[in-house]
Amino acid sequence: MKIGKCIVLSAPSGSGKTTIAKQLLDDKTLDLVFSVSATSRPPRGKEEHGKDYYFFSQEVFKAKIKEDAFAEYEEVYPGMYYGTLKSELERIWGAGKNVLFDIDVVGGLNIKKSFPNNTLTLFIKPPSVAVLGERLRARNTDTEEKIAMRLEKAETELARANEFEHIVINDDLEAAKKEVKRLVTNFLNA
Ligand code: 5GP
Repeated sequence: MKIGKCIVLSAPSGSGKTTIAKQLLDDKTLDLVFSVSATSRPPRGKEEHGKDYYFFSQEVFKAKIKEDAFAEYEEVYPGMYYGTLKSELERIWGAGKNVLFDIDVVGGLNIKKSFPNNTLTLFIKPPSVAVLGERLRARNTDTEEKIAMRLEKAETELARANEFEHIVINDDLEAAKKEVKRLVTNFLNA
């Protein structure tokens, strides 16, 4: 497999990383393609199969684990699996593009371990866990129970932020976007 470059954006959900990821993908100077992850969780809101995620049943997901189809995978929440398919990386690198990952901290650090010289790891940090909670409630797509679960995960992820090469604090979205673009451009041009 031809290996291209990897940009890992990790952050607790609600940190604004999806918005930042979108600007990177829209930026034609960067030539990045989004790595569509596989998951066994059901679609949320308007999410589409093949665009936001590859939505698999737990049985199918587990069969793919056995087939060694994943570059990395994880049971992010009990019974809910998420992972990066090797075929997804082959698709993107095969087209001569670089990969953008919007995945969790453990997955992101695993990608760095697998492709150490080709990977840039960026952690997007929310101003506080309280702000995260407000953002998740405003999104209106999760129950209180799910929000509590996400906030708990956020605490664990924030504790590992210093394992990333760069931490970008998202208290001002425009400034955070600018900083991420600068870091990514430097890495891709290095
Ligand atoms: P959500 O359910 O909010 O879409 O995602 C839940 C968590 O799973 C997020 O932290 C997200 O970054 C993470 N995630 C998404 N795709 C992957 C993946 O391919 N691998 C890993 N390890 N985590 C992922």
